[in-house]
Amino acid sequence: MYNLILFGPPGSGKGTQADYLVKQHGFLHISTGDMFREELSRDTPLGQEARKYMDRGDLVPDEVTIAMLRKRVEQHPDVAGIIFDGFPRTDPQAAELNDMMEEKQASINALILLDVDVDTIVQRILGRAATSGRADDAKEDVIRTRYENFINYTAPVFDFYDRLGLAHRVNGAQSPSKVAQAIADIVGPAAQD
Ligand code: ADP
Repeated sequence: MYNLILFGPPGSGKGTQADYLVKQHGFLHISTGDMFREELSRDTPLGQEARKYMDRGDLVPDEVTIAMLRKRVEQHPDVAGIIFDGFPRTDPQAAELNDMMEEKQASINALILLDVDVDTIVQRILGRAATSGRADDAKEDVIRTRYENFINYTAPVFDFYDRLGLAHRVNGAQSPSKVAQAIADIVGPAAQD
C-alpha cells in the first residue's frame, strides 16, 4: 500500500493534484472537506453539525472528523493506496491516523506540502467562489480565518512527519502541471511497489 498526505493551506491545489494521482495510480481519494460538503448537501445530522464550523472557517471537532474518516478507511480495506486530502489537520488527527495505519499493517509513505503564500490563496479562493458555490469561499474574512487555522493548528502536523523523514515541500504557486511533476518525482518510483 502507498499512502500519501496532500498537505497545504486552503486553496493550495490539493484537490486538483489528488485528481491527477487518482488517474495515474488508481488510489482512493479521501477529502474530509468533500465528505462534510456531501453530508451538508444531504442535510444529515453530521452535515448540520459540521456546518456550524465550516461557515466560520473553523475546524470541525476532532472526534467528529476522526470518526467519519475512520469509517471511510474501513469501507475500503483493499485499495492500492490512499490519498488523504485535508486530513490530518491537527496533532490528535495525525496520531489517530498513525494508529489506523498500524491496524492495517500499513504506514504513511509521504506528506507533501503545497506551499502557497496567503495573498495568492485569498485571490485564488475568491476567484473560484463563483464556480465552487461554497459559502466559505465567498467571504475574505472566512478565507483568512481558514488560513489562520491552518497556521495555528495544521502547520505543526508538518513537523510530526518531518521528524519521521517523510515530509516534502513543493512550490504550490507553479502551474498545476509543474506541481504534478514535482509530486511525481517524490511519489513516482515508490508508488509502483
Ligand atoms: P480548504 O482546504 O479549501 O479550506 P476543505 O474542503 O479541505 O477546504 O475543508 C472545508 C472545511 O471543512 C474546513 O474549513 C473545516 O471546517 C472542515 N474540515 C475539513 N477537513 C477537516 C479536518 N480534517 N478537521 C477539521 N475540520 C475539517
